[in-house]
Amino acid sequence: MSAELAARAAPATILNVDDAPANLELLRKLMTEQGYQTFVATGGERALAIARRVHPDLILLDVVMPGMDGFDTCRSLKRDPLTAPIPVIFMSAKTETEDVVAGFDIGAADYISKPLRMAEVCARVRVQLQLRSNSAGQQEQAERLRSVVDNMAEGLLIIEADGRIQFTNPACDRYLGYPANELAGRPIGELLTPLVAQEYLDYFALYAANPDTAHKHGTREVTLRHRSGATLSMDLTLTPMYLRQPLYIGLLHDITHHKQSEDALQRAAYIDPLTQIANRRHFDNFLEKEWQRAVRSGAPLSLVVLDVDHFKLYNDSLGHPAGDQCLHTVAQALAAHACRSTDLAARYGGEEFVLLFAETDAAAALLLAETLRQHVEMLCLPHPRSPTSAWITVSVGVATIHPHQLDDSEALFVAADRAMYAAKEGGRNQVRASHSGSTAWQVVKAIVMG
Ligand code: GH3
Ligand code: MG
Ligand code: MG
Repeated sequence: MSAELAARAAPATILNVDDAPANLELLRKLMTEQGYQTFVATGGERALAIARRVHPDLILLDVVMPGMDGFDTCRSLKRDPLTAPIPVIFMSAKTETEDVVAGFDIGAADYISKPLRMAEVCARVRVQLQLRSNSAGQQEQAERLRSVVDNMAEGLLIIEADGRIQFTNPACDRYLGYPANELAGRPIGELLTPLVAQEYLDYFALYAANPDTAHKHGTREVTLRHRSGATLSMDLTLTPMYLRQPLYIGLLHDITHHKQSEDALQRAAYIDPLTQIANRRHFDNFLEKEWQRAVRSGAPLSLVVLDVDHFKLYNDSLGHPAGDQCLHTVAQALAAHACRSTDLAARYGGEEFVLLFAETDAAAALLLAETLRQHVEMLCLPHPRSPTSAWITVSVGVATIHPHQLDDSEALFVAADRAMYAAKEGGRNQVRASHSGSTAWQVVKAIVMG
């Protein structure tokens, strides 16, 4: 059994103070009969010493005593923080109103007139002990709650209807980087983005005006400002409560790590691990978006397809790991030419790369393609067994189209791919374009139809 439980299960302790031994014996007997544990003192000094030592649950205190009388004793008890909470019941034959009032003024819980009627003494003692145990229970409950709030992993904020923060728990302070109590009194607008803060303020106003009909705000992901200025992703759960005034309890759950791994996963899904440039999936999504944009704007869209020349031979002569390193170097060189947000370089598979250039016509695309070819050649990556060059080279095909609603992006690919194969057949390490003054679509059609 815990000490706390043991203490609660033990009988109440009562200190009886009276200078008349006969009275004292009578009280002691009565209280013992009621099941209380009793202590006795025949004077004020002695009563104080016992009270400090045993912390009784109640003191029955005679008023008129030689030396330190009951009132003085009570004053001393109330001055000492250790004994101040102990309820004191005065017992006295002095029952004038001013005596009784004076007794209550110095902190008595009750005042019983002498001669004592034993049933009344018992009833009054019972009431005081009950009150004391209720308030001790409440205090204990409050302390327990406080300890939960102080130690919980979630951040907790209490917000007033005007958006001012009333209270934050240690986890909340820690999450947001504030010392204890510094957030109290500040508006939530300092923590949230203006739009989200306004949304909450509107909700607060709605609830404050009509607490019965408002619903819980629920949980949502919000971006919060750390004291350092950094941003944090958190789940915020908001629950209204009405305590004399409308208040809102906010619970913050840190999802920054979760967010980071989500971002990492998303990134992994779109990046080719070997070359660290976009993968085919990313490129296909990107092309689809740029295609739709080009359909609306009528701007030309150019696609460049590159394939490393004699790469099988490269692997065969220098080994697969050297081949991997070579692909990484070539990929990084190519990606450096996708400068605008509407350009994208990707590894399309094996030793084949693609670049999309939005709002780029055929002439500009041809220049870009030639720049790409030269850049790879000038990397001077030795290719000892290439029949084409001493260095790694690429064959490049380029196609341009003004997309229309009915066209599909596959046609652009076919055109660029065919141009690339034409470059291979033409001797490799060169650029071929699929356009010939007409629109790319017509060229594609001409090629597809033979
Ligand atoms: P061509 O000039 O006609 O393109 O000849 P090629 O040898 O480059 O063409 P082929 O398609 O016959 O061979 C491509 C080679 O690329 C074969 C394959 O092992 C190699 N390759 C594809 N992906 C990788 C990779 O991730 N790492 C390495 N090291 N080699 C790869
Ligand atoms: Mg190749
Ligand atoms: Mg190939």
